[in-house]
Amino acid sequence: MAEKIPDGPGSDRSGKSSLIRSLPGSIGWRLKFACSAIVDLCLPRICADCRKIGTLPEKSWCPACWEKIPHIAPPLCPGCGRPFRDALGSSDHLCGDCIERRFHFDSARSAVLHEGTVRTRVHEFKFGGQLRWTPCLVDLLETAYVAWGPDAPDFIVPVPLHTRRLARRGFNQAGLLARELGRKIKTPVLPCALVRKNSTPPQTRLKRDERLKNVKGAFEISRDAKVRGCRILLIDDVFTTGTTLSECAKVLKRKGGASEVYALTVTRALPD
Ligand SMILES: [Zn+2]
Ligand SMILES: [Zn+2]
Repeated sequence: MAEKIPDGPGSDRSGKSSLIRSLPGSIGWRLKFACSAIVDLCLPRICADCRKIGTLPEKSWCPACWEKIPHIAPPLCPGCGRPFRDALGSSDHLCGDCIERRFHFDSARSAVLHEGTVRTRVHEFKFGGQLRWTPCLVDLLETAYVAWGPDAPDFIVPVPLHTRRLARRGFNQAGLLARELGRKIKTPVLPCALVRKNSTPPQTRLKRDERLKNVKGAFEISRDAKVRGCRILLIDDVFTTGTTLSECAKVLKRKGGASEVYALTVTRALPD
């Protein structure tokens, strides 16, 4: 099923125009993104945190704020990428979930911990529709991807939203991230390879078992997706328990015939 509303890049700076807002569905969004791209080209790049002009080359963060970001670093789980914050100095080792083989993806990584400014930017991006934060979040994804260095994927696939939530939100945050990352690492994106069948309640406040029940059978593979024998990089904004990414990987492998599925998210929320 094709998404009707494009998940294209851009900022929300031009979104306040009532003319653009009044345009029907996809035309309004396309025009908004086109205007945003022009505005972005005309403005100097400012830091996504302190808002000072002058960022790292090709990055949306100034050097001082980039240093402050809680980038995920070893020691971590080589399976799901979970960092071991209290075990500094120890070597990488599998976490309990990976020892019990709870995940269907081959391995996963997240760029930063789900806290501080990045957490705020993710919330503003996802729930506030502030699409101008797309580049700063994709910078984090790209940096983590390069540091991780998995075998080059054939395709990038975003975790899908149910069409009802997509229509309400206006964009799929994972689709936007996937599209921009694909452009940067020169990998084709299949935005509609996965379809969300069930409109599940938000996962935010659910425990692991409840999340698992919530997403079980929630996804299916699109009839047009040709991923048999392919290596897939799955993209989402936040890794919490990994149940959504795991369920998507299961469908890509079992129903789509994908040979390998890797998962990458901007942030990683750790249990208390
Ligand atoms: Zn800064
Ligand atoms: Zn793990």
